[in-house]
Amino acid sequence: MKILVVEDEVRLAEALQQILVKNRHAADLEHNGVSGLDQALTGLYDVIILDIMLPKMNGIEVLRQLRKAGIATPVLLLTARDEASDKVSGLDSGADDYLTKPFNTEELLARVRALGRRRGAPIADDQLKFGDTTLDLSTYELACHDKSVRLGMKEFQIMEIFMANGSRIAGKEDLLSKVWGYDSEAEYNNLEVYVSFLRKKLAHIHSPVVIRTVRGVGYALSQEESGT
Ligand code: CA
Repeated sequence: MKILVVEDEVRLAEALQQILVKNRHAADLEHNGVSGLDQALTGLYDVIILDIMLPKMNGIEVLRQLRKAGIATPVLLLTARDEASDKVSGLDSGADDYLTKPFNTEELLARVRALGRRRGAPIADDQLKFGDTTLDLSTYELACHDKSVRLGMKEFQIMEIFMANGSRIAGKEDLLSKVWGYDSEAEYNNLEVYVSFLRKKLAHIHSPVVIRTVRGVGYALSQEESGT
């Protein structure tokens, strides 16, 4: 998806951009309300992440002007604190969702995906594919032809990394730090358990994709030839 981030804290804006790009979105940045509104008015975006406290024009006013101009792009408002009054005036002005700072990355991505769905963003943007098998990033469904199965949160996070790497090796340290936040022997055993769940689910949907163990290193996907 194409996302506009309007946030005057440059470091936070850049961190958001990095997170979004890493998750296969395109992200443009604006650092004040006036330039943010100008960009938003182009109507080029699938989702707008809009800070409330902005120089030149505050986020609520940006939103008001945007809706007045007939631009219906879903807007996720960022609030500094959990301020009820901000939320109420934001909702009145046509915000679609809120996130209170500080927020966690997964939460942000989940909200952005949900807003993108509302807009009806192309499905291709919301899926990872390896061979005949797809992983839906918003419903957590793993599917192959007409069969599908829903993944749990951890299974999904692991499968998302596998699919993004495809036939390249996903290192176990990398998996542990991305999914659990740190690596330890205990978590490595957990990882193996989740990988075995994923293998069962792949078999369940008759996917020809297999998760190969690269001993001591990590895992990689490969697709078996059909009919063998
Ligand atoms: Ca701000």
